[in-house]
Amino acid sequence: MEAMSHSSYVASHRSRSRIPDFLLLRPRDLDEARGMLAREPGAMAMAGGIDVVNRMKDGLAPPALVLLGGVADIDAIRLSPQRDAIEVGAGARHDAVANSDVLLAWLPDLARCWERIANIRIRMQGTVAGNLLALMSGYEGAVLLSALGASMLYSTRDSRGDMIAVRKFGEAADSFFERGGLAEKLRVPLPVAGTTRRLLYDRSLRPVLSVALCIDCAGGAVVSACAVIGGCHRWPFTCDLPVAGVALSELHARADDTARGAVRQMPAPTVPWFGVANYRETVASVLLSRLIREIAA
Ligand SMILES: Cc1cc2nc3c(=O)[nH]c(=O)nc-3n(C[C@H](O)[C@H](O)[C@H](O)COP(=O)(O)OP(=O)(O)OC[C@H]3O[C@@H](n4cnc5c(N)ncnc54)[C@H](O)[C@@H]3O)c2cc1C
Repeated sequence: MEAMSHSSYVASHRSRSRIPDFLLLRPRDLDEARGMLAREPGAMAMAGGIDVVNRMKDGLAPPALVLLGGVADIDAIRLSPQRDAIEVGAGARHDAVANSDVLLAWLPDLARCWERIANIRIRMQGTVAGNLLALMSGYEGAVLLSALGASMLYSTRDSRGDMIAVRKFGEAADSFFERGGLAEKLRVPLPVAGTTRRLLYDRSLRPVLSVALCIDCAGGAVVSACAVIGGCHRWPFTCDLPVAGVALSELHARADDTARGAVRQMPAPTVPWFGVANYRETVASVLLSRLIREIAA
């Protein structure tokens, strides 16, 4: 019995030696990448490779990897031609997002929140799409991008130029991968003229829980507000807050009720938790209320 349990431990241990041979494909542009993902059965996209390689060390064995690092322009961060959004290339690395002049000029809160992701080694290697598409409940990209109302532009083996709201991607993820999905860029909308946008974020309990709040204001009142709770489900829970038209001064007084109302709508967490039942819901409400008061102050 002793020998059996030892060998099963060795068999499940993460190791480079578990990585079998695979075909490495190096597309130079998105067309080539799309074609390779469509043609090669079981092919998998690889950006920075952090999650892909770790999963291969755990036993995942894709027959072919499509390495996106050499795809022209896949890491570009720029203002959209209509100047109504920032386009973030799927292959933009975390460090580039945090230090992008374009983001610092147009959506500085996003750059500042993104700067807190991981350590410098991971920020220099990991990409925006890799963070989203790893589908890990503790990762933060989907929380921040959902709060900002971002969308993802992608293609599959049978379609091109599809767009999906990041907040809805969790429901579509399985079909995205089955159809050989390739993320091309993220589109983060800018606030309309005359509106100020704030993004606040609490990651103090990550990866168990993280809470983001995005509020657009004009003339001292709320135009729209959105809260996102990450860590409890495969994909973050997003909730529009019913505070449009509320004066910022009044919002402060309503913070607790608004936060509790939002968290009540959250489905029961599906990510296993070793602590007290309902702890995450209770704390999510406290953190969200704090963020609302901070914006209203
Ligand atoms: C030590 C450590 C600390 C970390 N800390 C944090 C943290 O604090 N916060 C946080 O949010 N994250 C954290 N992470 C996670 C990190 O951000 C992700 O591992 C990283 O972003 C993955 O990016 P990648 O480019 O390496 O993805 P990859 O490993 O290349 O890909 C991941 C998945 O995305 C798919 N994919 C990638 N790009 C595309 C594309 N363009 N189209 C289709 N599919 C694609 C791949 O097929 C794969 O399924 C941490 C990771 C480590 C190892």
